[in-house]
Amino acid sequence: MECEEIGKKDGNRDNVKRTYTNGEVTIVWEARKCTRSGICVKDNRDVFKPKERPWVKPLNSTTDKIIETVKKCPSGALTYFLVNKGT
Ligand code: SF4
Repeated sequence: MECEEIGKKDGNRDNVKRTYTNGEVTIVWEARKCTRSGICVKDNRDVFKPKERPWVKPLNSTTDKIIETVKKCPSGALTYFLVNKGT
């Protein structure tokens, strides 16, 4: 399954926590929680690309769509926060 690629190249996968932002929303991914269900990939293939590094590409989608996809993550590995632009 393509999602087995997620986290593969990270030395200590269990402790990996990464953030990816498009300037409006920041996606947080915690490797140890990820069950590699592939739901994020199926829901938004433009952003979640397990065979690429970095595997999350937030500039490829709208903020609303990213949030929608993150909320579908069944394990809680994906979370998000809105970027405070200080306005
Ligand atoms: S939906 Fe969540 S648990 Fe499934 S592959 Fe994506 S990050 Fe991992």
